[in-house]
Amino acid sequence: MRIAVIGSGMAGLASAAHLARAGHEVAIFERFETPRPLGAGLLLQPSGLAALGTLGLRGEAERRGAAISRLIGRTPQGRTVLDLRYSDGRPGDTGIGIHRASLFDLLHTAAREAGAVFRAGTEVTGFSSFQRPRLLTPAGESEPFDLALVCDGAGSGLREQVCPGARAPLYPWGALWRIAPEPEGRRDGELEQVYQGCRIMIGLLPVGDNPADPEGRPGVSFFWSIRHDGLEAWRAAGLEAFRTELARLWDKAAAVNGDVSGPDDFAHAVYRDVRCQRWRNGNVLLMGDAAHAMSPQLGQGANLALCDAAALADALADHAPLKHALPRWERARRPATRYYTWMSWALTPVFQSSSKMLGWARDLAMGIGCRLPLIRGWMAWTLAGRGRTPF
Ligand SMILES: Cc1cc2nc3c(=O)[nH]c(=O)nc-3n(C[C@H](O)[C@H](O)[C@H](O)COP(=O)(O)OP(=O)(O)OC[C@H]3O[C@@H](n4cnc5c(N)ncnc54)[C@H](O)[C@@H]3O)c2cc1C
Repeated sequence: MRIAVIGSGMAGLASAAHLARAGHEVAIFERFETPRPLGAGLLLQPSGLAALGTLGLRGEAERRGAAISRLIGRTPQGRTVLDLRYSDGRPGDTGIGIHRASLFDLLHTAAREAGAVFRAGTEVTGFSSFQRPRLLTPAGESEPFDLALVCDGAGSGLREQVCPGARAPLYPWGALWRIAPEPEGRRDGELEQVYQGCRIMIGLLPVGDNPADPEGRPGVSFFWSIRHDGLEAWRAAGLEAFRTELARLWDKAAAVNGDVSGPDDFAHAVYRDVRCQRWRNGNVLLMGDAAHAMSPQLGQGANLALCDAAALADALADHAPLKHALPRWERARRPATRYYTWMSWALTPVFQSSSKMLGWARDLAMGIGCRLPLIRGWMAWTLAGRGRTPF
């Protein structure tokens, strides 16, 4: 088949690599002239690693990233709120902290080597037909394709055309982030977080190789939770005030940011909760964040995107007509995405909101839950990306 992929993020590149390897003619339309990774370091879960394994890229991701065996969350006073090991869910499980550029490079190379053709600097604005999709671009209408995959991310400008009535509200909280040199040198270990109520959440995730570091030092991804309407006040307060606050809350996070020269060293990320009744219109499919973006609270978005791509390759492998294969793909992907959409929606205010009650209840409930083997097992299983609804 002739397949158009719109967007060269995780969903688009992984789909392109799978489908080009299966012998399809794949063209990737990307709005940027130079395809590039956007956003912070990622935690790859066992589910996403298994999906990468189907492309033969798992080993390289493990070599470039940092193995993460544990998620540990504390208050600034050192009281443990959350202490979860992947092995509580399934022995031998680990996650991988990885720089987004490392994962992008692996997928981009795999797609290119499989024969996918990049049409960079081409923003797709719509479709003139959905059965035999033709893409609308500033240069005019494209040739017809058998299948088009809309992988243009959480802020998708095409989603509404595929699924009229889709909702994608912006969550009032987001994060400031940067990838800093890892002060302790290359290390495997844990995703560490510090919480004070729901208003303050700080995270440190080792990501292994940092392709952007001129000295080749390994990286650690730093997150600071912030309300969008507090961003200007944060900037106005200046760097010294931020350093002082970090030092008060968590000396390790303050040390990681010791080299910061100004507020512009931090990037600002926003989250959307995407709800789509359907992911298909004719032979046009929504995939990845375009179909089911969620807050990164459970670290699942990129993993779900990788699993979407692997499942699509499976659904098309037996050459069944698209009118059967595409609904089969959607049925296969709904239970996991539904589970994580709802879990992320429910958990985000527990970690990022203005509520006083939720922070107090979280510290109590998670403290108890982490001591009960059954609850620990369920939490670790959820973190590992194995969750799904029964329907
Ligand atoms: C702060 C933060 C932390 C996160 N942490 C994690 C984590 O630890 N683990 C995890 O699994 N997930 C995490 N995520 C979520 C993860 O980043 C996303 O789920 C994932 O990147 C989605 O991939 P995608 O391919 O669907 O979209 P994207 O990666 O957003 O790619 C979309 C691509 O489409 C292109 N594009 C957009 N519009 C057009 C157009 N009209 N025409 C052509 N091209 C277009 C864009 O330029 C881009 O290249 C995090 C997200 C954030 C914001």
